Amino acid sequence: MAWFRTLMQLSTIAKQPPFKPNNTVISPHLALISSISHFSTQSQPEVTRHAGLGPTKADEKPRVVVVGSGWAGCRLMKGIDTSLYDVVCVSPRNHMVFTPLLASTCVGTLEFRSVAEPIGRIQPAISREPGSYFFLANCNGVDADDHVVHCQTVTDGEDTLDPWNFKISYDKLVIAAGAEPLTFGIKGVNEHAIFLREVYHAQEIRRKLLLNLMLSDVPGVTEEEKSRLLHCVVVGGGPTGVEFSGELSDFIIRDVHQRYAHVKNYIHVTLIEANEILSSFDDRLRQYATKQLVKSGVRLVRGIVKDVQPQKIILSDGTAVPYGLLVWSTGVGPSPFVKNLELPKAPGGRIGVDEWLRVPSAQDVFSVGDCSGFLESTGKPVLPALAQVAERQGKYLASQLNRIGKAGGGHANTTKDIEVGEQFVYKHLGSMATIGRYKALVDLRQNKEGKGLSMAGFVSWFIWRSAYLTRVLSWRNRFYVAINWATTFVFGRDISRI
Ligand SMILES: Cc1cc2nc3c(=O)[nH]c(=O)nc-3n(C[C@H](O)[C@H](O)[C@H](O)COP(=O)(O)OP(=O)(O)OC[C@H]3O[C@@H](n4cnc5c(N)ncnc54)[C@H](O)[C@@H]3O)c2cc1C
Repeated sequence: MAWFRTLMQLSTIAKQPPFKPNNTVISPHLALISSISHFSTQSQPEVTRHAGLGPTKADEKPRVVVVGSGWAGCRLMKGIDTSLYDVVCVSPRNHMVFTPLLASTCVGTLEFRSVAEPIGRIQPAISREPGSYFFLANCNGVDADDHVVHCQTVTDGEDTLDPWNFKISYDKLVIAAGAEPLTFGIKGVNEHAIFLREVYHAQEIRRKLLLNLMLSDVPGVTEEEKSRLLHCVVVGGGPTGVEFSGELSDFIIRDVHQRYAHVKNYIHVTLIEANEILSSFDDRLRQYATKQLVKSGVRLVRGIVKDVQPQKIILSDGTAVPYGLLVWSTGVGPSPFVKNLELPKAPGGRIGVDEWLRVPSAQDVFSVGDCSGFLESTGKPVLPALAQVAERQGKYLASQLNRIGKAGGGHANTTKDIEVGEQFVYKHLGSMATIGRYKALVDLRQNKEGKGLSMAGFVSWFIWRSAYLTRVLSWRNRFYVAINWATTFVFGRDISRI
C-alpha cells in the first residue's frame, strides 16, 4: 500500500486550488516529493500538479505499462518476465473477466466470482515487486514523444475521494483497452438497455430479472403490466445474445416453472436480430440453433430497433415491443479513448498496428486485442473481436518483449538495433456457442467452407463446457466453476436477490 499512500500524499499536495493538468504552483512539499523513490514530479522550484511514476533510470528495470486488464492485457502480463521488467497495469477494474462464461452468471448458473480473476493472481509481481503496480484508473491520453501516459483515478467520488490525474512514464507501452458496445446512435439504448460485458452488467441483469419476477407476483399488478415486466428482450443475435437467450430459457424452464409457478405463463424471451442469428456459423448449425431456441420458447424476431423508450422499444416497421428487461448485444467498436488517441488507425477506427503489433510512428508503443487492428498497409484483415485473438496477441507480445528485454532493448528508445523477430500470425481455432438445454454448436474449421469438425447437440455442449473449464485462468476459479455447475445441476439456480 506504500504506492497508494504516496499517491494520496501527492494528491493532497495537488489539491489546494482545483487540479488542472497543466497547472503549475510552487509547492511547499517539494522536499517530500523529491525524496520519494520511484515517484517523480518535475524538478525546479515549480512543480506540476501531475504526480506519478517518473522515467526509469539506466540501472533500474525498464517498465512495461499495460493499459487494460482484459484478455489481451492479462495474458501479456502473465507472460512478461518480471526479472527483466517492472509491470504497471492501469485499468478501471482490478480483475479480468472470463467473458465466455459471463452470460451464465446473469441467471445464477455460475456465481460472479467464478468468472473474475484478480490481477494480482495473474501476475503476482504486481502485488510483490517494489517497482510493479496496479493502478485503478482510466488512461485518458498518451504522449508518445515523451513516453508518458496520462491517467485519472477511478474513485467513488464523495464517498471516497474525488478523482485526480497522474502520469506514468513507460519504457514500453501496451494499449489493450478493449472495445465498447455499439449502439448505432439509437436513442435510449445507453439509458434503458443493459449491456453484457462486465461483471456489474451481469449483476444488474440478475437483480432486475429477479425484481421483475417478484414484482409481478405482488397483488395489484395488472395482467398487461405482468406480461411487460416478465418480457425479457435481447437485441443482437450474435453468440453473446444467443447464449444469454439460451441461459434465460433454461432458467425459465427449470427454475421459474418450479419456484415462480404463479407467473410462469407470463415470462417470455424475445431475441431481436436485424439479419440472421449466429451469422459466423454455417447454415446447418444456424438452422439447428434456430430450431432449438424456438423449442425452448425463445421468440425470434427479425427487425431493426429504431428507438428505445423506458418500457418499450420501437422497431423500424413501427411495432412497439414492451419489455421489463432489455439486454443489448449488437457488437463492439472503438471506445472514445481509442478514437481520441493521436495514433495511426486501422480500418474501423481501431489503433493501427504492423505485423509485430507495434504502432508505427510511436516508438515503444504496442497494441493488442479488440482495440487494435492491422493497418491497411500490412495487407492483412482486421481480426475479429474475440478472446482467442486477444489472448494470443498478448502471449505473442509478451514473448517479443521478453526477447527485446534479454537483448538489452528494454529501456525507452533502445530497440533500434534489435532483430524484430517473427511476425504475429493468427490461426482461427474455431467457434463455439451454447444454445441452452444442454446443447451447443462447435465449429472447429478455420472458416465456413474449410474442412474439419463441425457439429451440434449434447456432445458439442460437453465439448464446450470442458473446453472452457480448462481455459479458466486459475485452479481456484476452475474449482468454483465446477462446483457452481454441479450445485446448479443438483439444486437448481440461486434465486435470492442479494
Ligand atoms: C459476454 C461475452 C462473451 C464472449 N464470449 C466469447 C467467446 O466465447 N469466445 C471468444 O473468443 N470471445 C468471446 N468474447 C469476446 C472477448 O471477450 C473479447 O474479444 C475480449 O475480451 C477482448 O479482449 P481485450 O483484452 O481486447 O479487451 P477486454 O477484455 O474488453 O479488456 C479491456 C480492458 O481495458 C480496460 N479499459 C478500457 N478503457 C480503458 C482506459 N481508458 N484505460 C485503462 N483501461 C481501460 C477495461 O476495463 C478492460 O479491463 C465475448 C465477449 C463478451 C462480452
